[in-house]
Amino acid sequence: MVLSPGQQQDLRSLCGERIGFDVDMARHCTLRAGGRAAALAEPDSVEQASRLIRYLSGQDIAWRSIGRGSNLLVRDAGYPGVLIRFAGRGCRPGETDPDQVKVESGCMLAGLLGFCQRQGLTGLEFLAGIPGTVGGAVRMNAGAFGGELSDYLSALSFIGPEGEDIRLTAGQWQAGYRTMTLPSLDWGRVLLLEATVTLSPGKTDEIMQRMDAYRQRRRALRQPALPSAGSFFKNPPGDFAGRLIELTGLKGMRVGGAMVSGEHANFIVNDGGASASEIIALMELVQEKVAARTGIFLEPEVHIL
Ligand SMILES: Cc1cc2nc3c(=O)[nH]c(=O)nc-3n(C[C@H](O)[C@H](O)[C@H](O)COP(=O)(O)OP(=O)(O)OC[C@H]3O[C@@H](n4cnc5c(N)ncnc54)[C@H](O)[C@@H]3O)c2cc1C
Repeated sequence: MVLSPGQQQDLRSLCGERIGFDVDMARHCTLRAGGRAAALAEPDSVEQASRLIRYLSGQDIAWRSIGRGSNLLVRDAGYPGVLIRFAGRGCRPGETDPDQVKVESGCMLAGLLGFCQRQGLTGLEFLAGIPGTVGGAVRMNAGAFGGELSDYLSALSFIGPEGEDIRLTAGQWQAGYRTMTLPSLDWGRVLLLEATVTLSPGKTDEIMQRMDAYRQRRRALRQPALPSAGSFFKNPPGDFAGRLIELTGLKGMRVGGAMVSGEHANFIVNDGGASASEIIALMELVQEKVAARTGIFLEPEVHIL
C-alpha cells in the first residue's frame, strides 16, 4: 500500500463512504482478473471530484479515471494510487438545442440510450449492447456496425490535474478508431465529467426497434459468454484481428486460465482463475505468432494499467 495512514485519513475526509482502500480490481473489470488498487474513489459530485483531484495532485499521488472496467486490466502488481470512477449518471436535454443531450460520464451507455429513446432522439442506436459507461465510451470512441460515438459528440467537460474545469467543443479533439486524442490534454491526467451529444428527432417506437435490431445483430456474432473485455486487439487497417489470429491457428491457445476464445478469435477470455500476467503473456504470444505468420503487429484495444 503506497498511501500513508495520514493520506488515507485525508482521503476519507474528502470522500466519506465513497472510497475503498486496497481494492480487488478483478471485481471491477469484466475480465474478472487483475491486481489491487491502493484505493478506488467514487465521487458523486463535481465539487467532491475536483477537491479529490486537487488533493491527489498536490500530494503527488498517482490517479486515473476509470469507468466500468469493460476495456481495462490492472496488472497483478496493482495500481499504486487512486482510481477514480465518477458516480454522476444524470442525463438531461440540452438547454438551448432540443436535439442535444448532456450526459454525465458515469452513466451507463444503456442508460443514455434509454433516455434518448424516451426523448425521441435518434443516432446512437448502434451502441446498443456495448457495456460500460459514457466516460469509457468517449475515451475509447466506442463503436459498432460502422458507427462511432465521436460522430455525435459536440462538447466535453473535464476536471484537469489541478482540479480546474476544462471544456472542449467539437474540433478540439481528434477521433480515431477506438481512440480519442485531446491535443491539449493527457487522458491519464483528466476526469471526463460530462459529454454533450447532438442527435436528430425520431419516433420512439422506431428508435426502440433499431436498438433491438442492433442487439440481435450483436447476438448473432456469438460473442463468448466467458469473462472478457470484448475484442482484445484493434483491427489492423483493412483486415480483422480475429481473422489473422484464426489464420495463425491460435484459437483455443491458453496461458494458465487465459484462453483465445474458440468462438471468436479476437476475444481473450478468462476460463477460470486467470491472472493479469497470464492474460498479458497470452496477448504477447498472440502478437508474436501473428507477426511471425503475417508480418502484422496487433495493437491491443484493452488498456492495461
Ligand atoms: C462483451 C463486450 C463487448 C464489447 N463490445 C464493444 C463494441 O462493440 N464496441 C466497442 O467500441 N467496445 C466494445 N467493448 C469494449 C468496452 O465496452 C468499451 O470500450 C466501453 O466503452 C468501455 O467503457 P468502460 O466504462 O468500461 O471503460 P473502462 O474500461 O473502465 O475504461 C476504458 C478507458 O477509458 C478511460 N476512462 C473511463 N472513464 C473515464 C472518465 N470518466 N474520464 C477519463 N477517462 C476515462 C480509462 O482510464 C481507460 O483508459 C466491449 C466489451 C465487452 C466486455
